[in-house]
Amino acid sequence: MSRKFFVGGNWKMNGTKSEIDGIVAFLKSGPLDTNVEVVVGVPSIYLTYVKGILPDNVSIAAQNTYKVAKGAFTGEISPAMLLDNGIPWVILGHSERRNVFGETDELVAEKVAHALEAGLKVIACIGEKLEEREAGNTEEVVFRQTKAIADKIKSWDNVVVAYEPVWAIGTGKTATPQQAQEVHEKLRDWFSKNINQTVAETVRIIYGGSVTAGNAKDLAKEKDIDGFLVGGASLKPDFVQIVNAKQ
Ligand code: PEP
Repeated sequence: MSRKFFVGGNWKMNGTKSEIDGIVAFLKSGPLDTNVEVVVGVPSIYLTYVKGILPDNVSIAAQNTYKVAKGAFTGEISPAMLLDNGIPWVILGHSERRNVFGETDELVAEKVAHALEAGLKVIACIGEKLEEREAGNTEEVVFRQTKAIADKIKSWDNVVVAYEPVWAIGTGKTATPQQAQEVHEKLRDWFSKNINQTVAETVRIIYGGSVTAGNAKDLAKEKDIDGFLVGGASLKPDFVQIVNAKQ
């Protein structure tokens, strides 16, 4: 079963309007492989600005949403608000949300469930910390994070799973293609045993963690790596080469 290659850019808390104009310019000139789904994750204040200038072949994501539609939650935005502004995607459970802002597996799962119910598509991030990998607990951690989400959602149709080992994010230490493939394969096996074979074969599992134009091609060759979530390099023209890594 074929899974469309997916490359997300996570701009995090970066960008001014003029810097964004530069990013959009290289996305426009591309050329971007038409076989790849490309989505950029934009700080919330710039979502509508970016939506207005992005080329048609690039979609847009928010980097967070809350778990209910509206109410007394100062500083939060809801999936309903994103949809009201034509924003179809959201990144949830990013390790910075989990580890800097203390989001638990439970909260991430509630957010994913609410976002899907509201009609958003979700890039759901999971991944182990260095000490968890060194203690041999990688599988246990990523399975636990995935199960928390699975327990709350009805369908994986609109979910892309981003496996992002925390020790590789923003550190320049990329997982080797073999390390990433090993976890992706185990996750697919987890889906087969705990959800069903169709989800195991169709859900896209993308890798994130210091992906660059230099390492993307080798990572993209692995059979269970269905794309990337890219932080730092998504702000640079190198992002085009990462999108085209399968070519
Ligand atoms: C990320 O922010 O999801 C990420 C993977 O960052 P970087 O590519 O900079 O490691």
